[in-house]
Amino acid sequence: MKARRTTLKALAAALVVGFAFTTPFAQAQDKGTVGIAMPTKSSTRWINDGNSMVAALQAKGYKTDLQYADDDIPNQLAQIENMITKGVKVLVIAAIDGTTLSNALQKAADKGVKILSYDRLIVGSKNVDYYATFDNFQVGVLQAQSLEKALGLKEGKGPFNIELFGGSPDDNNAFFFYNGAMSVLQPYIDKGKLVVQSKQMGMNKVSTLRWDGAVAQARMENLLSAYYGKVKLNAVLSPYDGLSIGILSALKGVGYGSGGVPMPFVSGQDAEVPSVKSIIRGEQYSTVFKDTRELAKVAANMVDEMLSGKKVEVNDTKTYNNKIKIVPSYLLKPVSVDKSNYKQVLVDSGYIKEEQLK
Ligand code: BGC
Repeated sequence: MKARRTTLKALAAALVVGFAFTTPFAQAQDKGTVGIAMPTKSSTRWINDGNSMVAALQAKGYKTDLQYADDDIPNQLAQIENMITKGVKVLVIAAIDGTTLSNALQKAADKGVKILSYDRLIVGSKNVDYYATFDNFQVGVLQAQSLEKALGLKEGKGPFNIELFGGSPDDNNAFFFYNGAMSVLQPYIDKGKLVVQSKQMGMNKVSTLRWDGAVAQARMENLLSAYYGKVKLNAVLSPYDGLSIGILSALKGVGYGSGGVPMPFVSGQDAEVPSVKSIIRGEQYSTVFKDTRELAKVAANMVDEMLSGKKVEVNDTKTYNNKIKIVPSYLLKPVSVDKSNYKQVLVDSGYIKEEQLK
């Protein structure tokens, strides 16, 4: 009998405890759903972004609807419209083409849905409430500074031959990366210490639609066959690891990196595993690490601040003009990575596991 009473008491206590634990959870679930529209799964950075966003928002008690659009603009539009119909409270969008979302965003705004532009700025719409990203100009500066260091330009070495690659022309970031890089490289070009044999300069000549590595590879192959025979290429400005892989493959195809022909120094961005491995092998020279875990944290805080009516924390109110207005932004710091610091920056921080690099 006594035993039975104890069991009943224990059961009652468990129910109370259970209730205490489930109540806040149930309230948290009432916070609503956040729609997260990501561009593509073809690059691990966006997979990491998506997963980190879901984790950070769920930890704050939001439900999430995460969608990837296969780099297809109509697909992303349909996903966003669907999220609006389903009644999300906030849309977090990493746009494929930052110029194509105005109508959808107007529909969202009409329903009171807030918009956070994630990593890439959405342009041409007044309905972009905030922007969370990295210092994109600085990304380009770091890419160019790594080439400057590799070539010894500061020490007066040169002249060297360089070719320039830009990102996708429908991605506002691509212009920031290019301009940041050129702020370092242009003075050397002007002094003749860097020579672009192809003379292809400016985003209208060097951009790479949809950040497609195959497009970059084809362009590199054309440049090599048109301008580099006896003349050797020494460096390539590449704005993204996925392009660097294509570029390196074109270079290897004509014998760079073997038989006494040194591999040109090639930059990158995102610290993707295949590129970090390439850096360790001595092929790609550098990349730029952008800790997507931190970006997700910042973005989730902004979502929460927007929805709870708190002041949204930003640290830049000047730089990101989306052609209609300046979008208040939170900028994180990118970090330059090469063979000398990849362990400390990427492995010790837990972003990449040592085993992934074997
Ligand atoms: C991002 C980069 C990325 C590129 C290609 C840009 O908008 O900021 O981190 O390398 O897109 O995915």
